[in-house]
Amino acid sequence: MAMPLSISCSQRVKEALMVGSTLDATMTTKILAPVKTERQILENSMLEDDPNANCTIGQQEEERVPTGPRWGPQHKGAQELANLYSTGKRLQECVCVCICLALMLANFFYLVLKFRWQNASAIIAAALFGIVSADFGSGFVHWAADTWGSVDLPLIGKNFLRPFREHHIDPTSITRHDFIETNGDNFTVTIPFLGRMLWDFLTLSEDEVQGKFTWNCYVFLLAIFVAMTNQIHKWSHTYFLLPGWVVWLQEHHVILPRRHHRIHHVAPHETYFCITTGWLNWPLEKLHFWSFLEYVIEYTTGCKPRDDDLKWAQKGT
Ligand SMILES: [Zn+2]
Ligand SMILES: [Zn+2]
Repeated sequence: MAMPLSISCSQRVKEALMVGSTLDATMTTKILAPVKTERQILENSMLEDDPNANCTIGQQEEERVPTGPRWGPQHKGAQELANLYSTGKRLQECVCVCICLALMLANFFYLVLKFRWQNASAIIAAALFGIVSADFGSGFVHWAADTWGSVDLPLIGKNFLRPFREHHIDPTSITRHDFIETNGDNFTVTIPFLGRMLWDFLTLSEDEVQGKFTWNCYVFLLAIFVAMTNQIHKWSHTYFLLPGWVVWLQEHHVILPRRHHRIHHVAPHETYFCITTGWLNWPLEKLHFWSFLEYVIEYTTGCKPRDDDLKWAQKGT
């Protein structure tokens, strides 16, 4: 069975360029239009708040053919990908999570110790910018990993790209991963930056520390939100027994809300890549940011976006 690829990135860019000629008449409608309709969401994504249903409504009756599961732990591709999680990778993740947590605590101690009230407004702005940067970073890495490369690539294939492929065909698998498997990669990425910050606190003079303080607040919030991105992402897939304070943060869109993230999980997974706060998803979609990048890369290299992702999705049939 062919997975329903609604529209290719080059088509979307061409559409965006054509819009220019009739911009005045349609701009408001285009901007206010929902990114995915309720029907697209129901037809082309897994219903995670109803785990017994693999799909609420199918395609047109005449197009329906007997098929295996399109999503979930019974999907053959999802099972194959889950089995590629190795003991060596697990060990690396355990070590890196411990180092990262120690660095976070030590840097937090120094940030509180060296805090000066007169710099509060600059510090708050820097911290906020750190959170927005983390959201953009999450979107960029997620887009790159979802869209390009293959699980067969040496080193990064099994260690880095595998979880992205698994997540599209079994979105609920992340809710069955423990803290280490969920957060290992993201905690690892922050270690060099948090290590450098601690080194500065230990070796620089008081004046030098104060001179870099606002920058360090930016880096610290960036690192915290980068490290927590996959935990926040996991919460956005958790429909049962979520702590009340997490639900509050989601409902007030401080962190990625559940309904918001479902838009990314509509096949073929071509938009709403930001998974930390999700604040940048709507503007980046309306600017055609991702589809434009894909158009440029496809035009210059000939590589088709989401080739490998589609290959794994079709293993369930
Ligand atoms: Zn994805
Ligand atoms: Zn997800």
